Amino acid sequence: MAFEGLTERLQNAMRKLRGKGKVSESDLRETMREIRLALLEADVNFTVVKDFVKQVRTRAMGADVLEGLNPAQQIVKIVDEELTKTMGDEAVPLNKSDKIPTIIMMVGLQGAGKTTTAGKLALKLKNEEKARPLMIAADVYRPAAIDQLVQVAQGIDVPVFQLGTDVDPVDIVRQGLAQAAENHNDYVIIDTAGRLQIDEQLMDELANIKELAHPDEILLTVDAMTGQNAVATAEGFNNKLDVTGVVLTKLDGDTRGGAALSIRAVTGKPIKFIGQGEKMTDLDVFHPDRMASRILG
Ligand code: GDP
Repeated sequence: MAFEGLTERLQNAMRKLRGKGKVSESDLRETMREIRLALLEADVNFTVVKDFVKQVRTRAMGADVLEGLNPAQQIVKIVDEELTKTMGDEAVPLNKSDKIPTIIMMVGLQGAGKTTTAGKLALKLKNEEKARPLMIAADVYRPAAIDQLVQVAQGIDVPVFQLGTDVDPVDIVRQGLAQAAENHNDYVIIDTAGRLQIDEQLMDELANIKELAHPDEILLTVDAMTGQNAVATAEGFNNKLDVTGVVLTKLDGDTRGGAALSIRAVTGKPIKFIGQGEKMTDLDVFHPDRMASRILG
């Protein structure tokens, strides 16, 4: 289960304050030390942890919590609010274009769940907005990637534009967009190539596709199971492409929490969706407050 260790440790850290009419400075110091360790162990970025702990501590000291009624509850509330803030406070909706089509470019490392997420998103738009998306297969390096996208698309009854693997991805996108215009598709979802790690050539290609397509949304898919690596990946893609949002996948697995809690604070870019399973319906809007509650258990 996701966040299991983190939830338990945070609860333990704060449980010790329960029943105390007053919390001494040394009680608070001890609690903050345990919260700090819990976050570090969950693979949360070091600077994010430092800022978080400082913020909670300042608020706990400042608001007369130590003197007040039921200090344990007040500190739980402060931690809850600060976790929410660290993850961006509010849910951030998908960017939409004033005129059709809204163009969404999917980027990410191989295996992160980019193609699966492209399908999930297309289905969500179909179900919730009665949208008519077109998907473009722009990963020409692995023939299996196109087959996979076609299979995903068939399962949700969404058309795919593809020209096989012998055409330049930028040309594929150009022609795909022309087809979308002809067919009046309201969304275009471009599935781009992934690699095992970030490399210059891939980034240049993605930059070229971006320049041609002017996407309204560049959604970076990252695997929550990879913790700090997910954060480093997000930084790498964001530096080159200035992404507009992040999809955090595999939150149904036993991820520790580092990616969920660090990405927004490190990159400044919002997590917009979370993947919570392999089925096409397993994509949810990311709500920082709900995620904070889930982490606190
Ligand atoms: P891509 O290489 O980035 O396009 O990744 P894929 O879409 O092929 O996904 C890689 C694997 O991760 C597949 O087996 C997917 O079913 C799986 N996957 C994707 N998203 C999720 C998720 O949210 N939860 C789980 N459990 N598996 C996922």
